[in-house]
Amino acid sequence: MSDRPIIIAGAGVGGLAAALALSDAGRYVVVLERAPALAEFGAGLQLGPNATRRLARWGALDRLRETATAPEAVDIRSSRDASVIATAPVGESEKRWGAPYFVSHRADLLSALVETATARPNIEIRLGCGLDGWQASADSVTVHVEGRPDIQGAALIGADGLRSRVRDGLGLATPDGPRYSGRTSWRSLLPASSVPADLLRPRTSLWLGAGAHLVLYPLRGASVLNAVAIVQDDWGDLNAPDFWSANGDAAFLASRFQGWAREARDVIETAPGWRRWPLYERKAVPTWSRGRVTVLGDAAHAMAPFLAQGAAQAIEDADALGRAVAAHPADEAAALDAYQRERVQRANKVQRASRIQGLVYHLSGPAGLARDMTMRAIGPAGMAKASDWIYRV
Ligand SMILES: Cc1cc2nc3c(=O)[nH]c(=O)nc-3n(C[C@H](O)[C@H](O)[C@H](O)COP(=O)(O)OP(=O)(O)OC[C@H]3O[C@@H](n4cnc5c(N)ncnc54)[C@H](O)[C@@H]3O)c2cc1C
Repeated sequence: MSDRPIIIAGAGVGGLAAALALSDAGRYVVVLERAPALAEFGAGLQLGPNATRRLARWGALDRLRETATAPEAVDIRSSRDASVIATAPVGESEKRWGAPYFVSHRADLLSALVETATARPNIEIRLGCGLDGWQASADSVTVHVEGRPDIQGAALIGADGLRSRVRDGLGLATPDGPRYSGRTSWRSLLPASSVPADLLRPRTSLWLGAGAHLVLYPLRGASVLNAVAIVQDDWGDLNAPDFWSANGDAAFLASRFQGWAREARDVIETAPGWRRWPLYERKAVPTWSRGRVTVLGDAAHAMAPFLAQGAAQAIEDADALGRAVAAHPADEAAALDAYQRERVQRANKVQRASRIQGLVYHLSGPAGLARDMTMRAIGPAGMAKASDWIYRV
């Protein structure tokens, strides 16, 4: 086994999860994060059992449990009259899929991962260290860090998100780069005092309407209601400001929810402010690794959020990477090849399914009515069965 560290670019969910998995494989890990601090930003994330099972294995789930909520169910509602079209019984997640289904504030998930990582002597997180390129040879990788000395590693993992420098350097597709999905995502956190008690029950509601949908769930002991609206939208400025700092025009958003049931419009109108973010995907590619360098998480497979699986797939990547490195302790290139062989097909399948789910969610007119009728017929058991392929893994 090499005594050089494995270097991870990016301390998001994917990079921190990879650090834990590689630490479990007995490796020394250096995580380079461009941001000067791990900011307390974000909003809610749904974490399916395929994610929480792995968090438990790394010892991060108990920390997350302190702040996360386990919803009883996901109610899919009609935008026309608020009626429940279908219910996904995610409250039975432990029984059916062997691990809980949580909703968490993204900052709480990051804190749980960081606390778990900093308790490990073989993980080092270096903030304010942006990767600025690398050179790989047959037996090592030299990573260039903005304004700092180079670092030598045994392998480089690009967990540097949607606009991954590592992916750009690997040249995995031509042309490549983030692809605008034609939709924007709007996020807000409403104080509990401003929403009806019914919306603070531990249930997620997913409202479907023409060209838009809305997801609501309480977070942090029901002290806030997390609201995410996704709408078809022309805006696709690649140089848009950071996800969490781009303010959205509430009047524009309200115009997209005209004609929706009163309960949904009330949430849109009472939210204290919205962040707007164009949704991008990365092209699905057949290979992620070249020699000692690979990508993971959004850098590998940024996907539409309609199955709430982006972070979960990053966590699955991290787990597969850790196992591959443990299985090939003396050959990092072989490990990265084994990692991509395990992961590419599944992640690309989830990415494709997320895109299709988006088309289904936003149907209008007779097609939307047909969707509602089909969902009503499926029932809770059918809804759970439809998720088996994602959650059972
Ligand atoms: C609206 C919306 C809702 C979503 N809901 C869900 C959900 O419910 N469930 C779910 O599982 N997923 C969800 N996702 C997806 C999820 O948020 C992402 O897939 C996940 O956060 C990706 O994690 P990551 O670590 O790959 O990338 P990121 O979180 O983007 O982290 C990348 C990190 O790399 C750092 N970085 C970037 N460049 C460099 C560099 N050159 N050098 C060093 N560091 C660098 C960045 O600062 C950042 O910290 C949602 C996404 C959206 C947009």
